[in-house]
Amino acid sequence: MLNFELYNPTKLVFGKGQIEKLPTLIPANAKILLAYGGGSVFKNGIHEQVRKSLEGFEIVEFGGIEANPHFETLMKAVAVIREQKIDFILAVGGGSVIDGVKFISAAVPFEGDPIDILKKRILFKEGSTVIPFGTVLTLPATGSEMNSGSVVTIAATQEKLDFGGSALFPKFSICDPTVIASLPKRQLQNGVVDAYTHVMEQYLTYVHEGYLQDRIAESILQTLLQIGPDVVENPTDYALASNFMWSCTMALNGLIQKGVPSDWATHMIGHELTALYGIDHARTLAIIGPNLYKVMFETKKEKLAQYGKRVFNLTGTEEEIAMAAIEKTVAFFHTMGMKTLLSENAENFEKTADFIVDRFEKRGWKALGEKQNITLEKVKEIVAMSY
Ligand code: NAP
Ligand code: FE
Repeated sequence: MLNFELYNPTKLVFGKGQIEKLPTLIPANAKILLAYGGGSVFKNGIHEQVRKSLEGFEIVEFGGIEANPHFETLMKAVAVIREQKIDFILAVGGGSVIDGVKFISAAVPFEGDPIDILKKRILFKEGSTVIPFGTVLTLPATGSEMNSGSVVTIAATQEKLDFGGSALFPKFSICDPTVIASLPKRQLQNGVVDAYTHVMEQYLTYVHEGYLQDRIAESILQTLLQIGPDVVENPTDYALASNFMWSCTMALNGLIQKGVPSDWATHMIGHELTALYGIDHARTLAIIGPNLYKVMFETKKEKLAQYGKRVFNLTGTEEEIAMAAIEKTVAFFHTMGMKTLLSENAENFEKTADFIVDRFEKRGWKALGEKQNITLEKVKEIVAMSY
């Protein structure tokens, strides 16, 4: 195994009725910014539950954080916090609201132009000054509730960029699986596929000595395969909802990444498809992931074969199993309602591969992946294969 440090200070409060615990989790004298998205929290009653449990606290509300949160919107919240001397942020939402709050938390005390947080990918190390925040998760998918990463879109330039650091773990996250009852089917499908791909980014690299990490990763994949098709049909089933929510958190709370290599190229390329065409995050991963495995087949085939044998019980030669494992993955994504071609998700996409490669080049990204062998040529091939 590779050397590693494990640090995850987020207190996870999991289960039915846990929103009531909010007053015990937030400092008693805090002045709170209550941040949320486009209004689903009003329709499903989560806003009301949160307000009720926080009676007596001084609260300023900030709504309207969009999916794939915009730098421009988040800067409005930064201004509110600075003006009103707010000292705690509560994110109530999915990955977009939580990621947005991580940016706000970092940007408020940031000395300099906050756009540099994204453009220069500033690292907020443990001990950096940020505004503390907690979350009430409403959409299992990203793991953002228990990690320190964030992805923010600069709308003006259509760029979707990530940043983060150990100072940006939520202080706590309330994960009540019953909140998924109001999620549209599309978002449930997205959640399963995003979490599945998070595991794949950290697992589908090469055969290594992280035996335990592999087994944990495979068990999360198998759980998502088991419950995915059912949870999108029956989100009120508590066994399905709770396993779904916990799988999503476990997929990206840092645990399975320790001591092993990771890829992340599917996400890096996928972010561009969201930035350019507004395609849902998970759907970009379903477009790119399987084609990346095909283009990088030579370097990933042994791990693909392990994946095929252990996760899908496939038999045959190593090469046959590896190929069949990719097909099984695509079939699962189709079952989850994904359309895996770019042409099925966007119009006027013919120049996408050239555009993305040009962008990566300008950012100085020469190669991606666990072996840094996904060159820009390969990126072009992966994107073009997705047309
Ligand atoms: P999201 O963008 O937060 O939310 C998607 C939609 O679901 C929104 O329209 C939201 O509506 C609605 N919604 C949320 N909870 C709901 C509920 N309980 N009932 C009904 N509707 C609900 O989706 P997400 O997939 O969680 O987040 C995606 C973002 O996270 C992307 O920007 C992606 O790049 C990023 N991401 C971050 C990480 C990380 O580690 N930080 C990892 C992967 C992806 P309202 O706006 O009206 O609330
Ligand atoms: Fe993701």
